[in-house]
Amino acid sequence: MASEAVKVIVRCRPMNVRERALGCKAVVSMESTRGQCFLQNPAAAGEPPKQFTFDGAYCKEHSTKQIYNEIAYPLVEGITEGYNGTIFAYGQTGSGKSFTMQGVVEPSAQKGIIPRAFEHIFESVQCAENTKFLVRVSYLEIYNEDIRDLLGADTKQKLELKEHPEKGVYVKGLSLHTVHSVVQCEQLMEKGCGNRAVGYTLMNKDSSRSHAIFTVNMEICTVDEQGLDHLRAAKLSLVDLAGSERQSKTRAVGERLKEAIKINLSLSALGNVISALVDGKCKHVPYRDSKLTRLLQDSLGGNTKTLMVACLSPAENNYDESLSTLRYANRAKNIKNKPCVNEDPKDTLLREYQEEIKKLKAILAEQMGVSNLAGLLHAETAHLAMKSPPLFKPQVDLEAEKQLIREEYNERLAQLKASYEAEQASRARLEEDISSLRTHCDLKLSALEESLRKEAAAARTETAPDEPPLPKDTIAAVGKELASVQDPAAPQAVQDTGGVSRRSAATGVAVTAEGMALPVDQQQVLARLQVLEQQVVGGEQAKNKDLKEKRKRRKRYADERRMQLVAALQQATEDSSDWVLLNVYDSIHEEVRAKSRLLEKMQRRLQAAETEIKDLQLEFELERINYLSTIRRLERDLMLCQQLLDQVQLLVRHDCNYSNLERIKHESIWDEESGCWKIPEPIIHKIHLPAVVPALPLSRPSHDSPLAESREPAPEEDRYKLVVNRSDSETIASDYFRPRRTSVILHPNPTPTRAAPGPEGALRARPRPFRLQALVFAPTTASTKSKKGSGGHRLRPRHCRH
Ligand code: ADP
Ligand code: MG
Repeated sequence: MASEAVKVIVRCRPMNVRERALGCKAVVSMESTRGQCFLQNPAAAGEPPKQFTFDGAYCKEHSTKQIYNEIAYPLVEGITEGYNGTIFAYGQTGSGKSFTMQGVVEPSAQKGIIPRAFEHIFESVQCAENTKFLVRVSYLEIYNEDIRDLLGADTKQKLELKEHPEKGVYVKGLSLHTVHSVVQCEQLMEKGCGNRAVGYTLMNKDSSRSHAIFTVNMEICTVDEQGLDHLRAAKLSLVDLAGSERQSKTRAVGERLKEAIKINLSLSALGNVISALVDGKCKHVPYRDSKLTRLLQDSLGGNTKTLMVACLSPAENNYDESLSTLRYANRAKNIKNKPCVNEDPKDTLLREYQEEIKKLKAILAEQMGVSNLAGLLHAETAHLAMKSPPLFKPQVDLEAEKQLIREEYNERLAQLKASYEAEQASRARLEEDISSLRTHCDLKLSALEESLRKEAAAARTETAPDEPPLPKDTIAAVGKELASVQDPAAPQAVQDTGGVSRRSAATGVAVTAEGMALPVDQQQVLARLQVLEQQVVGGEQAKNKDLKEKRKRRKRYADERRMQLVAALQQATEDSSDWVLLNVYDSIHEEVRAKSRLLEKMQRRLQAAETEIKDLQLEFELERINYLSTIRRLERDLMLCQQLLDQVQLLVRHDCNYSNLERIKHESIWDEESGCWKIPEPIIHKIHLPAVVPALPLSRPSHDSPLAESREPAPEEDRYKLVVNRSDSETIASDYFRPRRTSVILHPNPTPTRAAPGPEGALRARPRPFRLQALVFAPTTASTKSKKGSGGHRLRPRHCRH
């Protein structure tokens, strides 16, 4: 599999009003032909500017249209061929990320990359021959490390990330919307943008506080010459990242500060992924450190063609951020991806649709015949196209559409003319025929009348023979013939009986757009077929030569532009390596001059390299300080949690498994998939005591005593006894009262031990119920502590300490 480097371009916006008002100096400059960007340190004016080379360098004079045509066009074109693609904008807040990705309506040249990609995709779809596409879009944002569906029913609901062996990383429950046109895509994008989390910061009044990913999923089915289907799938991710910002600059506090910390965390996770990918020695790529890097996993080092747009502010007060963006971008251009055409994807909806369409067509063809079905489908499609709202009208470039309408008009006009002329000719012929027939009939009639007159005259002169006159029917028939010839509409009316007979044959029928009647179930099949066929798009402009030509021109332009850049860079490399060549000089002076120039050049480069080393060391030092402060903060947080835990643990019931935290820690498992710990469920071990066997009460009179034998239990007493004996499965709480009740019920006159006589004293004097001397328990569960006692284990539940 051929690898391909991530393409990186840099774009610098013009100074904004605030920067102009502050009188900021510009520190960014570009050499667009060579894709070079220079950054001058405002604190060291004598130092040479830092130089970076990318796949494109664009400044305030360049429009998004130019950027798209030069660099994004081939990537998006790849989507319609079955490659995955990602375009993402990176940069500090207010540097023009959203401007580049979403853009503005006016001027049209500054329309963003996302709407341009929609137009491009649908243009390719409509020009494709023998190919059908199912296009579905989704739009999500990552806000405070939570994933939300911007087009879902509940945009605040947090969604989970999942990993599938074939699909890769995906968001569970993310809504996918089938689209048929650019307008639909734009409407969905607008809707999603409205649901995005934005907030005011000092750097940008509508600063995006989340990372947003608009994804176009395509399933492509191409039919080859043998009539076999070939399926492919592709995904275009259009990413508008939240700003990489310093809190001191945005003066963020409270919620804004919390957001900023999360944004910076995910962006530094992105930076770490980029560094790990570029560093050949690094075995582990920390994709799992943030949701953003997990979602972009395939776009960074995977099966995707990727373009990164690094956005810069030109002002001197943003020098640090610009330098960090350029370093980030410079590293990213060394990432190697492995894009390939995604052939024969599994579980495609398009495959399901195609199969169902085939089945439905087979059913209809069996019932109606193949030619009837073809005609019917054609008529229905045309009918639906006329009925459908403008939203479903295929969208193309305006010029192309105008051209198409003009062509269609000319074609229809020519057809109409031809048919009119043919009609005129046939009408003339018909009139000729009519007149000749009329003459012929007139002649016949007059000849007939003449002969009749002659015969009558002869009969009048001679004795008239008894001949019947010419039957009136014959005359009428001829008249009718004549009349019918004079009315050209008459035969058509007669011929229309076919339609009538079809209608009359119908029992439980529905009429199609063509006027053809179908049984109701056939109508249902047809309706389903049309719904399915409407889901897929492709080939609507397959015959539009102008549009195809325009597409070719755009492709050629992007290729030429790339070649120019490669040539310019080659030239630059040759210039810088001229010291390697052994030149021949005419004089010693010339040699001295040339070598001095070379020396100066080398000194400048050496100085630039030394400055770079110093800067990098400083940057690493700052990063180290940052990491250390983060570690200290995390340690403090951890300590707080531990102290809280120590306090809370005292309140945990002893029969709960969470009373032993060490064991809980031991049983907890880290789940890579969800990125969190799986901890045991809290369980309370309820002590189910066995049935109570009343022991021989110490104070109870012996059964042998004549008194006991003679005593008949009262009915009330019996009832209580029954209740007490039935309570085998009662818990400790009910057992608590049992001895008391038993002793009260069974021994209505216990001997008071300590208290003074009298009703109150008697109550107080009763044996304390939780002293279970009166009860004997069988051995219980292992978790219950048992105490030795005569004739069994005497228990004292721990939580009954009163
Ligand atoms: P970000 O998304 O990076 O936070 P925005 O895209 O919202 O920043 O841009 C901030 C401001 O700068 C907006 O008002 C935008 O119109 C303006 N801007 C950005 N880039 C350009 C550009 N290339 N040309 C003109 N204006 C721009
Ligand atoms: Mg933005």
